[in-house]
Amino acid sequence: SSIFAAVEMAPRDPILGLTESFNADTRPTKVNLGVGVYYDDNGKIPLLAAVKAAEKARLEAAPPRGYQPIEGPATYTQAVQNLLFGAGSDLIAAGRVVTAQGIGGTGALRIGADFLKRLNPGATVYISDPSWENHRALFEAAGFPVETYPYYDAATRGVDFAGMKAKLLSLPAGSVILLHACCHNPTGADLSDAQWEEVVAACREKGLVPFLDMAYQGFADGIDQDAVAVRLFSASGLQFFVSSSFSKSFSLYGERVGALSIVTASKEESSRVLSQVKRVIRTNYSNPQIHGAAIVATVLSSPELRAQWESELAGMRDRIRAMRTGLVEKLAAKGVAQDFSFVVKQRGMFSYTGLSADQVAVLQKDFGIYAVSTGRICLAALNAKNIDYVADGIAQVLK
Ligand code: PLP
Repeated sequence: SSIFAAVEMAPRDPILGLTESFNADTRPTKVNLGVGVYYDDNGKIPLLAAVKAAEKARLEAAPPRGYQPIEGPATYTQAVQNLLFGAGSDLIAAGRVVTAQGIGGTGALRIGADFLKRLNPGATVYISDPSWENHRALFEAAGFPVETYPYYDAATRGVDFAGMKAKLLSLPAGSVILLHACCHNPTGADLSDAQWEEVVAACREKGLVPFLDMAYQGFADGIDQDAVAVRLFSASGLQFFVSSSFSKSFSLYGERVGALSIVTASKEESSRVLSQVKRVIRTNYSNPQIHGAAIVATVLSSPELRAQWESELAGMRDRIRAMRTGLVEKLAAKGVAQDFSFVVKQRGMFSYTGLSADQVAVLQKDFGIYAVSTGRICLAALNAKNIDYVADGIAQVLK
């Protein structure tokens, strides 16, 4: 018999499964709000003009394609550090930040998880309840038990901060705490600056290992504003991890451009830590791909292209905000009594709408409007052409 005879079918990814159903739907009015991707007002994934310009220059220069350094080129890793920690960061100047290119934010998380498993094999990883669904799978795949800390409060549609803080303060030293640095996926509910300060204090008091996941820098309030958690941890003197991604902020999803940064206690410690991170990478995929990181490094190091990117990023941020406001206004105009103003307060691409799994199912069946069964919708999938139809569908299911 086949050596694969006993292989069981793995469970289907719920969000990719939703997209398959969406693709098979023949209704011309269908709308996919289940995705985690930014679409422009024409419903297309944008190719940013700054990216296009950098790619054109690169194509003309036609550079050779040798192997990259295991941790990626310094032009890229330095650009990443400046974005996350700020160009004038004392930590960078002191050599206390180690950065390695990752295969998207996901790959960066995995390098960090594998390194942490060697460092602290007995630790438990705590993720928010709820969290991006791959967080649990990824840390479990790296060999960690994964548990949750309280996060979303359905009653206030905000963060159960008292619950979160009490949980953090109850954990043993060495526990790994995965935190969404901004634009929480899936809820859209973020911590305030004052709450971040309390999280930093709790991590210090209990000796926790903070791991910040920054997948949406620039999608809430701005590049530096969205880095407030990274900056507060930087000022704390603690050691911590940051995974970051350019999938959303550069609209480079398929190029898989991300990075893992680790803040250490000293320059000397940094070189030891980097040597171990390189070992993780070497035994997984040897060294990273060239193209996406080269584009990002080119854009971030050219004053003109950087200004163009910042304005395009602001355009994406503003359009999402306009969709949030528009949806709330349209729901009210259609006579929905329930207060949806929380949608405007949520940040990033997503909103936990409070729609039940049953209501989501009716939206899909009767209107061809696809959302995640938890009620999560992607605001960046709304546009001037479909927002009325979506507001109408939601108003109908709420009746
Ligand atoms: N972390 C969070 C919270 C995300 O939402 C995502 C993408 O959806 C990622 C990480 C992974 O990003 P990437 O596509 O760069 O691997």
